[in-house]
Amino acid sequence: MLAYTAGDTDVPLLEDTIGANFERIAARFPYHDALIEAAAVPGEEARRWSYSKLNDDVDRLARALLALGVAKGERIGIWSPNCAEWTILQYATAKAGAILVNVNPAYRSHELEFVVKQNGMRMLVTAPSDRNSDYTAMGRQALASCPELRELVFLPDAGADGLTAGEPQSKAERTYAELLKRADDVGHSALQARMAELDAHDPINLQYTSGTTGFPKGATLTHHNILNNGYSIGELLDYTEHDRVVIPVPFYHCFGMVIGNLAALSHGAATILPGRAFTPAAALEAVQDFGGTSLYGVPTMFIAELALPDFASYDLSTLRTGVMAGSLCPIEVMNRVITEMNMSDVAICYGMTETSPVSTMTRSVDTMAQRTVTVGRTMPNLESRVVDPATGEVLERGAIGELCTRGYAVMRGYWDQPDKTAEAIDADGWMHTGDLARMDEEGYLVIEGRIKDMVIRGGENVYPREIEEFLYTHPDIQDVQVIGVPDAKYGEELMACIILKPGAGPLDAASLAEFCRGKLAHYKIPRYVDVRESFPMTVSGKIRKVDMRREAAARLGL
Ligand code: AMP
Repeated sequence: MLAYTAGDTDVPLLEDTIGANFERIAARFPYHDALIEAAAVPGEEARRWSYSKLNDDVDRLARALLALGVAKGERIGIWSPNCAEWTILQYATAKAGAILVNVNPAYRSHELEFVVKQNGMRMLVTAPSDRNSDYTAMGRQALASCPELRELVFLPDAGADGLTAGEPQSKAERTYAELLKRADDVGHSALQARMAELDAHDPINLQYTSGTTGFPKGATLTHHNILNNGYSIGELLDYTEHDRVVIPVPFYHCFGMVIGNLAALSHGAATILPGRAFTPAAALEAVQDFGGTSLYGVPTMFIAELALPDFASYDLSTLRTGVMAGSLCPIEVMNRVITEMNMSDVAICYGMTETSPVSTMTRSVDTMAQRTVTVGRTMPNLESRVVDPATGEVLERGAIGELCTRGYAVMRGYWDQPDKTAEAIDADGWMHTGDLARMDEEGYLVIEGRIKDMVIRGGENVYPREIEEFLYTHPDIQDVQVIGVPDAKYGEELMACIILKPGAGPLDAASLAEFCRGKLAHYKIPRYVDVRESFPMTVSGKIRKVDMRREAAARLGL
């Protein structure tokens, strides 16, 4: 049987714009919680929005944007860690028809300016500066060097320690509060008229993909792309107005703003923000304090939560479901999340920014093996297939090849880069993911890793995932990544980069080899062991294997 599946087609796609969909839900559940931001300072009150209040605040900001003359399709950037205003701007730009550009909060001035120029951004909304990033100064620098950037808006510091909100120094700069005042100049009817001009197939969001190599590319996504993807995820998680979704993953990435905001807010559920940056304790506290029913994370976040010394003291009894996604989800970790965190219905989602993002997902009715080993099956209204990366031919089930996705969720293209778009999306509309996968007889997909992370040792293809899964069963290992390093004899050799459990060890290559002997083929046993405190990560929680390979090669003098 060929490695092709189509998802269910009996669930119709929404034809709404994001703004219209949100208004419909807000009218149904006006007094339900929509957004809760945990207090940044212990003892302070959380900030809370009901659906009706959130809709009012969204409208106010959207009217302020119209007052400044923001036209349909203009680009407005948000450069901030998670905060309530992020969500408000997401929906306000959607109502005003401006394209929201998610700017990675870890970017520095050079990367910021690249993104601002690449899409001709008109307005940039920046976070208050913190110890690590002087957003105000870098925003000003962009204002000075990017002629198309006309307005810089400073988000408030909300009284949090260590944050400094920008203070306007020129006409191009204004605080968020000053921006909101402009709403008085525009009536509600003008906003309704703008919303009526919008089409669900208009681009509404631009996300620069983390791309570990080369310049970032702006995946251009429409209302239709991301609203339907978010809605569909919420349906498969059985979200209702009684759910409370804890979102410690970044908004600048689809995981936060689509799998989080759009999935929850298209179902009347509440979104709960534990804080600006991820800490395992804040995530679990948010579940406990606000009765979270669903918790999100990339695998390393769940690993860190489970490793908290006081893990057992958190009340996680309200949890029911959640999402693990973003990189390979170790089976052991999935099992622990299900049994120890009460997340009996947790799902693995697989996808990429270019597919809005989720293209396959596990379902709560799947077997335990399907829910932990595979990334599930194709989402409704999408198609998946596995092809030979060299010839593009569809492979048989069970064979490893490149996973491709087709359907409503595939992006419009990379902003202003038709050549790069054509490299990624073929003439038949298939998005080539760059991921290696195999499809089983029942249509479930197993991800084997990125094509470029595959190690070729002495002519044998080695898939790091298989070895990582095995090493997770070692009693001393908390987290592990396997990479290839250059080798004169074999071309590449394997290195296991390991984070030990507290108090465990020492562990060296010889003792690890002993553990593997008889259980793994000799060519899969890591030659090198690198015990470390952490892995280099992108803000969206992806481990930078490219950097790890470079560092390891340099350290070994290879
Ligand atoms: P991004 O566009 O930043 O979301 O990155 C997408 C990439 O993340 C995919 O191409 C995969 O390599 C990886 N990824 C996302 N979800 C999963 C998952 N559940 N299992 C394995 N890899 C994943």
